[in-house]
Amino acid sequence: MSEFDLIERFFKRGAASTPRLAAPEAPDPVALGIGDDCALLQPAPGMQLAVSTDMLVESRHFFADADPAALGHKALAVNLSDLAACGAEPLACTLALALPPERARDEAWLGALAGGLLTLADAHCCPLVGGDTTAGPLTLCITVFGQVPAGQALRRDGAQVGDDLWVSGTLGDARLALGALRGEFALPPEALAAARLRLERPTPRLALGTALRGIAHSAIDISDGLAGDVGHILKASRVGAAITAATAFDLIAARAYLTGTEGQFDSKHLLPFILTGGDDYELAFTAPPAARAAVQAAAQRAATPVTRIGRIEAEAGLRMINAQGHSTPLAARAFDHFAD
Ligand code: ADP
Ligand code: MG
Repeated sequence: MSEFDLIERFFKRGAASTPRLAAPEAPDPVALGIGDDCALLQPAPGMQLAVSTDMLVESRHFFADADPAALGHKALAVNLSDLAACGAEPLACTLALALPPERARDEAWLGALAGGLLTLADAHCCPLVGGDTTAGPLTLCITVFGQVPAGQALRRDGAQVGDDLWVSGTLGDARLALGALRGEFALPPEALAAARLRLERPTPRLALGTALRGIAHSAIDISDGLAGDVGHILKASRVGAAITAATAFDLIAARAYLTGTEGQFDSKHLLPFILTGGDDYELAFTAPPAARAAVQAAAQRAATPVTRIGRIEAEAGLRMINAQGHSTPLAARAFDHFAD
């Protein structure tokens, strides 16, 4: 199969097959899709373009034998998560794909990869409008384009002293699954299934991101662990934060399946997964206490649970407060591919 056959067969689809987010009478934001030298996008009047790129590399971000449908899903999900964190809605995406020759010949594998990616793209009205395809070590690099009303993007630098610190969904499960898959420990089958779904098929919180526009003071998506990513907000906003240990510990979803393993998976073991595990793709955001009802209403509109886990303070750094009120400093350090 030639490079062009491959694109035609697996990635190019008729415009009619791509669902539209905007009302049917609104102009299509994609003026030109796959096939020319450039795609042409037209954001709605008054909107800023939000652009983000994220790359997945075999052996670094996923195992060589990863399920191709899950891989396609995750490659786009991690990018959509960045749009969500900015409160942007998706317009389109591009895919730069490096494929080992044996994968380029494997039609079942390619079909599953494209299927996983395009199914999530459809769910969020984010058509694939271009890309590049080359031979090389398996790498998926997606760029997403979104739009957000000018001046209303959620940013990292807006947190204010006194804000509540919130997170969406659950945290730590992806790291729990990774540990089990790497053979660090064994998990009961139901716990592994629940955690693995979070690792392999993360849910970008797009509805929550747009619902929080005008409510949240700052936001970030949690790709590298709660402590490190909240640390980015703190640094950009020149503030500190205190997290309540008990509420943080409650965040791990697979905990529900870990009864009977107490001692092996208690807070001492699970808290680090929540704080530094990463790959969760939830949103961490701050909002003033006066907006608590508005945050809950936004969460309900977005059908996404949110938990208030702490507070923004003037004192720099990140702290964890235990049940006795003792404060322990947390290293607000994110995962670093080049750290030794
Ligand atoms: P060029 O030579 O201008 O770089 P290509 O021949 O690489 O263009 O690609 C032809 C068309 O197919 C372009 O519109 C490009 O955006 C699209 N394309 C290439 N690879 C992919 C891919 N993996 N997914 C989606 N579209 C792709
Ligand atoms: Mg090219």
